[in-house]
Amino acid sequence: MGERELAESVVNLKGIGEKTGKLFNKCGVYTCRDLIYYFPRTYDKFEPPVRACDLKEGEVCSVSLTIIGNIMRRKVRNLSIISFEAGDQTGKVKMTYFNAPYLINSLKSGTTHIFRGVVRKKGNFFTIDQPKMYKAEEYATLCGKLMPRYPLVKSLSNNTVTKAVQKAFNSAGKFEEFVPEDIIKRLGLMSFFDAIYNIHFPKDDATLEQARRRLAYNEFFLFVLKLRLLKKLQEENRNTFPIIEVAEAKRFLEKLPYRLTNAQLNAYNDIISDISGPYVMNRLIQGDVGSGKTVVAFLALLTAAANGYQGAIMAPTEVLAAQHFEGFKELIDKYGLTSIKPVLLTGALSARDKREAQRMIKEGEVNCIVGTNALIQEKVEYKNLALVVTDEQHRFGVRQRKALAGKGENVHVLAMSATPIPRTLAIILYGDLHISVIDELPGGRIPIKNCVVGTDYRNTAYKFICDQVKAGHQAYVICPMVEEGELDGVENVTDYTDKLKSALPPEISVATLHGKMKPAMKDEIMEAFARKDIDVLVSTTVIEVGINVPNATVMMIENAERFGLSQLHQLRGRVGRGDAQSYCIFLNTSKSDDAKKRLDIMNRSNDGFKIAEEDLRQRGPGELFGIRQSGELNFRIGDIYHDSDLLKSASMDADRILSEDPNLSDTQYSVLRGVLSTKSANSVDFNCL
Ligand code: ADP
Ligand code: MG
Repeated sequence: MGERELAESVVNLKGIGEKTGKLFNKCGVYTCRDLIYYFPRTYDKFEPPVRACDLKEGEVCSVSLTIIGNIMRRKVRNLSIISFEAGDQTGKVKMTYFNAPYLINSLKSGTTHIFRGVVRKKGNFFTIDQPKMYKAEEYATLCGKLMPRYPLVKSLSNNTVTKAVQKAFNSAGKFEEFVPEDIIKRLGLMSFFDAIYNIHFPKDDATLEQARRRLAYNEFFLFVLKLRLLKKLQEENRNTFPIIEVAEAKRFLEKLPYRLTNAQLNAYNDIISDISGPYVMNRLIQGDVGSGKTVVAFLALLTAAANGYQGAIMAPTEVLAAQHFEGFKELIDKYGLTSIKPVLLTGALSARDKREAQRMIKEGEVNCIVGTNALIQEKVEYKNLALVVTDEQHRFGVRQRKALAGKGENVHVLAMSATPIPRTLAIILYGDLHISVIDELPGGRIPIKNCVVGTDYRNTAYKFICDQVKAGHQAYVICPMVEEGELDGVENVTDYTDKLKSALPPEISVATLHGKMKPAMKDEIMEAFARKDIDVLVSTTVIEVGINVPNATVMMIENAERFGLSQLHQLRGRVGRGDAQSYCIFLNTSKSDDAKKRLDIMNRSNDGFKIAEEDLRQRGPGELFGIRQSGELNFRIGDIYHDSDLLKSASMDADRILSEDPNLSDTQYSVLRGVLSTKSANSVDFNCL
């Protein structure tokens, strides 16, 4: 496909009008290029239909059945429900549809259809909720194929997206390769164009895996090259804010009721040696959840303040920012620290308070700015900002760094991450940062008790949650999805909240939290949970980076097999923060041995670094998009664990190329240079550069 066609708006594709165009825009798709880079989130594989007696609980099955008896219609509150039974010679299944009154015309007793959906068991009865219905001929054409399932928004159907992508490919030409030919040959990679095509419409699993690997390599290769080029720039950045260790910090440490762990002390010393040294600091502190990174950040901010500079700490959410601010104030009051003057700057402040905070920052009345990313970056003028700490973000992207450049020349940057990553990968992924690892937990913590269980344990778990709530504690339940229909067989927070409300006594308050909510709404719910107004929070992984509610003692994770181990570990880190014994329940809905083996690791270890190593060792092939890795290290396609061989290869290739041709000036790299310099190119879509 030529560049010109790729740049065309999607509404120029036949069959896509203004209205559909707007829906595509909601998904971030504007041009044909966006469209072909709008990758499926998973694939439907249509197996031949089975008999009723061969249905497997918890799995997506297709079954050819005849409708028996009456079609029942009822209304419960706002929900209209259609249900009926269907069967063959070997058994019966109960089907239920919610809010789909239009189906009533195609459902007739005695007619035969192929039903497809997740099989559940209620008592002795198999049930399928919201099955997709097909005519036999229609199903036959789908059988054996992998059909793409795209991320959708309301009113945009999977079919519409599929057709639009096909049309975009119809005017296809070739993509220019930017990965050098010898690498493609050596690794036996699929061509760029074929890879993009096959990620949408793979003919089988093997082709899909090849396509995926090619695109993963692309991502890693560009990522590593950018990192290397960036590092070169940084090494030339001289330290214009020399900051030295202060007595106030030492006194503070002596007065603290606990001693810093050796790992914390080492991190603190690394920071001091950076900020007092010849170059600007670019350091990452990697420490497991609860390892005590905050106090280290506080020491850095205190030191900057006592040296006469301003420092800022950026948190990903308002709640976290407020939490830091309160915590800092407490330390300052309790230990009589005089040089550090904090201020909170978040979107939740009134316009007046915001203006006042901005004035104090500009005039230098405050020197420790605690806030959310956007606020700190956009609207604020600093008097003399010298240090920026980012909390719970894996890396501090170039774009953010640039946004800050106008605030203070070459500020020192300290990033703090709670995702333990095996050293071999960390060196590649954080190539531009120096790393301090806090690999020691403060003593005296009660280890979390874990269990990995199947769906039959669900009711016992609810009972357990109920008991914990009655004892005054709180619980989290995590589901992978936001809404119904995104993926078969996977729990979503919207429906789950209703289910849980009816399973628990009415006096227990249950609320929902997910990433599609407005930020203000999210913060409100998190705050309500922190205030104990909510007992049980049903959430997607948005709570992963976040909140510290020591009173929460239960973490229950539905479809635990769908998460990476490191991510499960992060989620688990939300409990076990207080004095009470905490529990983590991993609900495994898969029947596969691999899933069980993987989850068992969580059962055996509470050590994030060990778990990450295991993740690297165990993450076998064939999991494709099934498992999501942790937070901000998300590449679109590549998986740092599953594809660690490609990541290592990309790293070596990038090093070799740059050592031969540091500026990529040879003509063979002209396409590559172009790709590296475009900001928008979706093909370079890793969120951090
Ligand atoms: P994280 O690394 O996950 O950000 P925090 O910084 O929030 O962890 O620390 C978790 C808790 O441990 C806090 O309540 C903090 O006061 C406490 N803490 C930090 N360092 C120590 C230590 N060396 N000994 C005992 N408790 C500590
Ligand atoms: Mg923290």
